[in-house]
Amino acid sequence: MPTTRQARSAAALVRPDIAAMQGYVPGEQPQGGKWIKLNTNENPYAPSSAVARAVAATAAGRTLAKYPDPLATVFRVRAGEVLGVNPDWILCGNGSDDLLTILVRTFVAAGECLRVPTPSYILYRTLAELQGAVCEEIPFEQDWSLGDAFAVETGPDGRPPKLAIIANPNSPSGTLVPPERVGELAERLPCAVVVDEAYGDFSDTNCLDLVRQCERVIVTRSFSKSYALAGLRFGFAVARPEIIAELQKMKDSYNCDALSIAAATAAIDDQAWLADNRAKIVATRRRLTDGMRSLGFDAVESQANFVWCTHPSRPHKPIYEALKARGILIRFMQYAGWGDGLRITVGTDDEIDAFLDAIKTV
Ligand SMILES: *Cc1c(COP(=O)(O)O)cnc(C)c1O
Repeated sequence: MPTTRQARSAAALVRPDIAAMQGYVPGEQPQGGKWIKLNTNENPYAPSSAVARAVAATAAGRTLAKYPDPLATVFRVRAGEVLGVNPDWILCGNGSDDLLTILVRTFVAAGECLRVPTPSYILYRTLAELQGAVCEEIPFEQDWSLGDAFAVETGPDGRPPKLAIIANPNSPSGTLVPPERVGELAERLPCAVVVDEAYGDFSDTNCLDLVRQCERVIVTRSFSKSYALAGLRFGFAVARPEIIAELQKMKDSYNCDALSIAAATAAIDDQAWLADNRAKIVATRRRLTDGMRSLGFDAVESQANFVWCTHPSRPHKPIYEALKARGILIRFMQYAGWGDGLRITVGTDDEIDAFLDAIKTV
């Protein structure tokens, strides 16, 4: 074992800005144990059975002996048909986090500016820091709308943003900035705009059409939430082919493996599964929202698979802790200068009933 002094001097060999960084901390992922897990917005149901068949078929032959298709063309062709976009407009990634990394690295150089709303997905700031870039956080309005401040041409020290990212629906709020408003902001911004639609399949509308209408808009989608495949790691971006060509330079050659390409293709092929799953989540989301309101919480009307709750008088952290002691994990979120709250993932009806029973006694 190295001594503490040795360990410290080894860390001193890395870039000082990296050594000074906190690093992104994902939600708790307890391995083993019997948890009701409502903390990281995973889907509570099993994925389409077509996924297991596709994975088994791919694993059985000699496919895994060869490198995968660098561009995951079978997936892009099938997704293109389902979404009504040309496959040249699609880039696949190892989860949408991979695509967000590629996007920030492609558009924002060291010292330049990434603009995001706050409170939102904390990874955006981490990606800017890794790039040695500045992350400019523009607060949402009280009602979770995005004001004109998000579209001003210059940011900190007169630096214009080189990329803006809007999680839509947003996390932790679950709220949606209407596509018309996103289009308006994109027209005014001096840079490319990523609409992170990790939760887009749960919402009433999305920004896919904006990609066609506005050349600077890029949409990202994830298989982790709506397709119940968080363990698989697959996502994709939709953008004009000229942008896709630039992003391809930045990605790892084989960023998606053969199993995930086969699985994601089978998953997107089963739109009946998606519609059924979405209907179940939306119904349980209603129960969860109403249940929290009847307990005196302010629960924001959600367009995603989680609900953001605050209590007018009770502190939030002890609620999270007491639930954890009862084997129920939710997410306690705290944002500097803004406040805190509880983000609760929509589980099965049974899980949400158990959660509501437990929170009553807390
Ligand atoms: C979960 C999440 C992602 C990450 O999705 P992966 O495909 O699992 O990498 C991206 N953006 C937001 C806002 C998320 O909540």
